[in-house]
Amino acid sequence: MLPLDNIYLASFLFVLALIFLAKSGYLFKPKEKYPSLPYALKGAKLFMNEQYLEIENPKYLNGIPDQVWQLPNGMLVPIDTKTRKSMKTNEYDRIQLTGYAYLLKHHPDTKHLPIAPYGYIRFPMQLGDQYRKVQLLKKNAYEECVDRYTLLSAGKIQPRKPQNTKFCVGCGHQDTCNYFLFNVKKVGNR
Ligand code: SF4
Repeated sequence: MLPLDNIYLASFLFVLALIFLAKSGYLFKPKEKYPSLPYALKGAKLFMNEQYLEIENPKYLNGIPDQVWQLPNGMLVPIDTKTRKSMKTNEYDRIQLTGYAYLLKHHPDTKHLPIAPYGYIRFPMQLGDQYRKVQLLKKNAYEECVDRYTLLSAGKIQPRKPQNTKFCVGCGHQDTCNYFLFNVKKVGNR
């Protein structure tokens, strides 16, 4: 058995160690709510979560960004979540994130705030979320996309030949698109 003095000493040292760990933040450390946020977003706060946004000007646009984070300097960063096999981002992701940034830039509630020229695609993974940074389109390029989409949807212009027929997978215009009906479909049926 330990002598009484040694028990007191061990208890004293144990309490001292606990105080040291608590003061240095190792004990009772608050659990991070979003532990896998990219480093560039550390210190940011969740500003919006799946909030519907709609604007009339300079173009009519609506959408629901999955999340919008606000950096300590006030800048807003849109994030969209995707579940797909590969963690690669694509041009659609860039257009979608740019659309959210455009909404934020012109919405009455957020137009006074700076908007980041980039966003993130979040890929939920078993070992933690993974984020990929995406540079957004410039204003003119995005507005051209919106105008073109509006004309295409109204059937006023025809689609251009896609660089890759993979672009047509899942496209909502397949039924009316001449290129798809007369070219892609035939290629796909070979
Ligand atoms: S189906 Fe037509 S509109 Fe859709 S991606 Fe292919 S070419 Fe473009």
